Amino acid sequence: MSQSTLQISVERRAPVCFVDLKKQYEEIRGELDAAIQGVMSRADFILGSEVRAFEEEFAHFCGAAQCIGVGCGLDALTLAVKGLGIGPGDEVILPGNTFVATALAVSHSGATPVLVDHDPDDYTIDPDCFASAITERTRAVVAVQLYGQTADMDRIDAIAAEHCIPVIEDAAQAHGALYKGRPCGALGRAAAFSFYPGKNLGAAGDGGAIVTDDTDLAAWARETRNYGSSVKYHHDTRGYNTRLDGIQAAVLRVKLKYLDRWNDLRREIAASYDERLEGLPVLLPVTGAHRRHVYHVYAIRCHDRDSLMSFLQKCGVSANIHYPVPIHHQPAFRHHCIVPHRLANTESYADQLLSLPIHPHMAEEDVAYVAQCLHEFPGRLSLER
Ligand SMILES: *Cc1c(COP(=O)(O)O)cnc(C)c1O
Repeated sequence: MSQSTLQISVERRAPVCFVDLKKQYEEIRGELDAAIQGVMSRADFILGSEVRAFEEEFAHFCGAAQCIGVGCGLDALTLAVKGLGIGPGDEVILPGNTFVATALAVSHSGATPVLVDHDPDDYTIDPDCFASAITERTRAVVAVQLYGQTADMDRIDAIAAEHCIPVIEDAAQAHGALYKGRPCGALGRAAAFSFYPGKNLGAAGDGGAIVTDDTDLAAWARETRNYGSSVKYHHDTRGYNTRLDGIQAAVLRVKLKYLDRWNDLRREIAASYDERLEGLPVLLPVTGAHRRHVYHVYAIRCHDRDSLMSFLQKCGVSANIHYPVPIHHQPAFRHHCIVPHRLANTESYADQLLSLPIHPHMAEEDVAYVAQCLHEFPGRLSLER
């Protein structure tokens, strides 16, 4: 259909943003300002008391023994991969529908990303596709806990155990998600988190962490994030400078106290969307068995996705696409990954997925408005299967 036929019959109102970090700041401004002031007045900037305290608190939150704060989620993933001894000549399996960082971390270790398809319903890595991609060079699998829910961890674990390969969690979108009541972060050999501001637990800038029970990996990562050094000017390994910043740790400590409540609010908004969109010819998010979803993203699927997105834009609603281009179609990876079988779901869903606004500070009337816009969309939503 042509753009000109997109009539807006819903009442115009204030825009609905995709995430609202200003409202989040307003809610806890006093605590955040005091925490930042504390770091400033103690000049506690690099690997100080706030970083140590946050690492302890976040490890406890995840039910893991160790947390190592680093500069960003990409660095957390890269150190997790490298720390498990993975490098050139090795293969690491991951889903094709993920943020580019998952594949970059594997590439930066020197190993080759092997991309596989995802489950048709919950969009996490398909265990059968993972199993069929294993070769004698496979050294790990990355389970991306996508959109806020974990993969089918029992099946992933069973396949990985049978082949003696570790499971790494990309937990960047799933702070607080559960599988069989166990928190994300403690479901594999190691997990990588991002604290990018828009994540469920976000800093005031970049940040990330590795969470693990593996004491060797933890010790290696602790040194490697800090120039390969545990004693100043003594270097055991050729490390990096990627440390979680003291101010970011202070901010994260404040926000960690609110994470469970904020995740509950996300689930309430998702439930409201589910109810309000019922009956529309769109596919709503599906929560896999044994999982608690934390809705980092509320992704629907429909036909005419691009027209719907521009219609929403005209209605003042910011939607997003996670992700418009699968990893193996990115120029950066076209010649730098292995695709052992056709990624049928990954490829077709990239044209159908649309992420609606969701964040803990979203008003119910905004959810109602977004749903109303979808009901008024004059295009064709229904998927032809
Ligand atoms: C955000 C994200 C990352 C990377 O985190 P940064 O902190 O931005 O480096 C990795 N994987 C997934 C799935 C993400 O969503």
